[in-house]
Amino acid sequence: MVNKTNSQTLHQESNPNILSISQLRSDFKGRIIAPGDAAYDQARTVFYGGIDRRPAVIIRVKDADDVARVLSLARETGLPLAVRSGGHSVVGHCVTEGGIVLDLSDMRDLKIDVDNRTAWAEAGVTAGEYTTAAGAHGLATGFGDTGSVGIGGLTLGGGVGYLVRKYGLTIDDLLAAEVVTADGQILHVDADTNPDLFWAIRGGGGNFGVVTRFQFRLHVADSIYGGMLFLPATTDVISSFMAEAEAAPDELSAIANIMAAPPMPFLPVEVHGKLIVMAMLVYAGGAEDGEQVIKPFRALATPIADMVKPMQYPEIYPPEEGEYHPVAASRTMFVNRVDRAVAEMILNHLQSSTAMMAVAQLRVLGGAMARVPVDATAFAHRKSRIMVNVAALYDQPEEKGKHEAWVTDFAEALQQSDSGAYVNFLGDDGGERIRAAYPGATWDRLREIKARYDPTNLFRLNQNIPPANGK
Ligand SMILES: Cc1cc2nc3c(=O)[nH]c(=O)nc-3n(C[C@H](O)[C@H](O)[C@H](O)COP(=O)(O)OP(=O)(O)OC[C@H]3O[C@@H](n4cnc5c(N)ncnc54)[C@H](O)[C@@H]3O)c2cc1C
Repeated sequence: MVNKTNSQTLHQESNPNILSISQLRSDFKGRIIAPGDAAYDQARTVFYGGIDRRPAVIIRVKDADDVARVLSLARETGLPLAVRSGGHSVVGHCVTEGGIVLDLSDMRDLKIDVDNRTAWAEAGVTAGEYTTAAGAHGLATGFGDTGSVGIGGLTLGGGVGYLVRKYGLTIDDLLAAEVVTADGQILHVDADTNPDLFWAIRGGGGNFGVVTRFQFRLHVADSIYGGMLFLPATTDVISSFMAEAEAAPDELSAIANIMAAPPMPFLPVEVHGKLIVMAMLVYAGGAEDGEQVIKPFRALATPIADMVKPMQYPEIYPPEEGEYHPVAASRTMFVNRVDRAVAEMILNHLQSSTAMMAVAQLRVLGGAMARVPVDATAFAHRKSRIMVNVAALYDQPEEKGKHEAWVTDFAEALQQSDSGAYVNFLGDDGGERIRAAYPGATWDRLREIKARYDPTNLFRLNQNIPPANGK
């Protein structure tokens, strides 16, 4: 904790800037990065482009005690607080203008208990790092579709990835966590200890405390049959793809990205720029069975490229471009069906976009994820059938309005009876959409728990759930 003396010193020494960086350097075990430091610009950069915020300080915490100290500092100074694990927040919630960034990216310890098939991972570990380390033992926990995403933010929102139908969401494999609450307490949470908090952090995002460590269940996922399959994007291919993916056994999780073919070397030049289905398929089982399950997808049309093959599970996260910071307008939603009419509407909208890249991503849900009771976790969209994310990537900031209008229009056209939203893909959409992420009784329960653990809403730079006491 920052003791009284330290906190007074902070105020006295450093006004009008509130913080004394040299004092912070002696108070914390972790790294202090401030404006003017060589590492500052890199440290305030987040995955998405177009976010250019200058925090007063970035504190790369070393352990839970450091986290408690940062929270004390934030309470005492009243400075805005951002929490960062992997830095992939869709809206840049992990960096704040003029405030404090609590950065967990130096907390990367990972302990795999092979015999008990569990792992304790610190919040700074990425999905790719975890998957590679667990994969060395033929084991896996399901995260998302991208290796560089942090397990911190991803897990706290739910976690929808390549094992979603076989093993459920990431939170369905969360066994326990260490949480530092707004008042600086370091709590162990699991199904029996602080069960309300354990319920809330499984989908409620960063609203309830800073999670420093997660304990996950591991599954045997040695070799899989999977990879990318490129098909021409016609109404028949898209609707049949979705029907096949829904009918497939739980071992298969499928993501279909409908987009203009990028100029990738393995795609024939004549398809570059034409709408294609870039599918990511993972059959979490043996190659022979996998080949049978993938057969109907290959038969939908002559594949433009077929990279589906037996592989080790970690290969599903290929190396990523180091300095890729796209600027995107996006919307997330759930739909019940993608039939020919919906597929045609998707193609028409994609064709009308003037963005550098426009994409409709369709993720088939169900399976293990849907077998968990709706009220078992703060993620409540267990019965949703298909998640859709539409996005326009652009590079000219002045084009923002045009692309935002396009995604809004597209999302309106796609809307069916499922009015829910997945919190981890929500943009800056505001109150109504946060409510959509937490329907019905989930919202009320989350607000009650928030009032207990964070009554002053210290953790508010997120998809915010205000405490029930109304602060
Ligand atoms: C390229 C890309 C691909 C994606 N793919 C998927 C996918 O396949 N499946 C999926 O489910 N999601 C996916 N997402 C969404 C992703 O899960 C969220 O953006 C998530 O918040 C990122 O986590 P992070 O730790 O990297 O982000 P950060 O920006 O570091 O964190 C985001 C927010 O989460 C909270 N938070 C993070 N860590 C902690 C912590 N330790 N304690 C308390 N609060 C914390 C904070 O409020 C923080 O601002 C993707 C995002 C991107 C950019």
